[in-house]
Amino acid sequence: MVSGVENLQGAKDQLLIEIELLRQQVERLQQENSDLQVALETTAMHGDLIESQLHTANQYLQLAISNYKQKQAVLEAVLDSISRQKADLEIILQTMVEHGDSIETELHCINQRLEAEVAERKSAETKLQALLRIISKEKYDLEMIMRTIIEHGDAVEAQWYSKLLEADHLALVDDLTQIANRRRLNEYLATEWSRLSREQQPLSLILCDIDCFKAFNDSYGHQAGDQCLRRVAQTIAQAVNRSSDLVARYGGEEFAVVLPNTHEAGAAWVAERVRKSVLDLQIPHDSSPIHSYVTLSLGVATMIPQFAKQVDEIISQADNALYRAKQQGKNTVSLASALYC
Ligand code: GH3
Ligand code: MG
Ligand code: MG
Repeated sequence: MVSGVENLQGAKDQLLIEIELLRQQVERLQQENSDLQVALETTAMHGDLIESQLHTANQYLQLAISNYKQKQAVLEAVLDSISRQKADLEIILQTMVEHGDSIETELHCINQRLEAEVAERKSAETKLQALLRIISKEKYDLEMIMRTIIEHGDAVEAQWYSKLLEADHLALVDDLTQIANRRRLNEYLATEWSRLSREQQPLSLILCDIDCFKAFNDSYGHQAGDQCLRRVAQTIAQAVNRSSDLVARYGGEEFAVVLPNTHEAGAAWVAERVRKSVLDLQIPHDSSPIHSYVTLSLGVATMIPQFAKQVDEIISQADNALYRAKQQGKNTVSLASALYC
């Protein structure tokens, strides 16, 4: 019996437990039902929004698919092009393999030509570098010279100028007597002849000759003769006044005096003064039959130059007058005009 009660009690407890479990299950289902209702309400409330979101997502997916399709088409085109290039390359490769020997020969030739050209250029470059070194050295030297010239330019210029003057002077001056030489005389006579031709003014010329000079040399020696020539030349030079007058050595023991713008009377006066000045030097001349001192004979010519006539005309006239002075006994002045009267 007891065991029967106990069994009943056990069954009762079991039932209570099962009831409790059922009750809990009912509660949970009620809760789920409530949640579902809430969810249903929420879904109904936000349906439009979700639908719009789904539409947007759908559009985005369609766009992505379209992009992928485009990319696929491009990739297919690239693939196609690569396939064609591959085919071309295979043909080229095939050709190269077939004609390999001739291409190789040609390449060898080109290679040899290029190597030769490179060698030639290298050699040219070496030569150019050597040349460049020489040019640089020369440039440096020239720069040094230039610098020196610039630094000493003034001194060099002055030296050259003085040398030039010296050369000019030497070209126109008689070495022995240091008066004008024959060249200077000729130039001056020609210049004055033309000028006075234009101006129609007189030009006078005196030719002077030392008397018995050969005998002087013979008596006193050549050096004494030279010394005598120097003294006579300087004395004649001092006897003329105007800056335009020119005293020159005509040759040997002969001298010329050019007197521009001078009439015959003036020239005769100058000639006489010259004669007297030389005599006044009192240079002994023991072997002279004329005088115990050195003397001069002088011929004077005066002309108004004409273009039609040559300067030789006045020289010739002065020479003739001088010849006459010698004939007249030397140590005298003779005028050309006296000859032509
Ligand atoms: P004349 O009176 O006729 O002029 O006679 P001369 O002896 O003076 O003339 P000649 O022509 O016979 O002689 C000229 C001399 O002048 C001859 C020559 O030895 C001399 N003589 C010419 N030039 C020079 C010179 O530069 N130095 C010296 N010492 N003598 C010279
Ligand atoms: Mg003479
Ligand atoms: Mg003489």
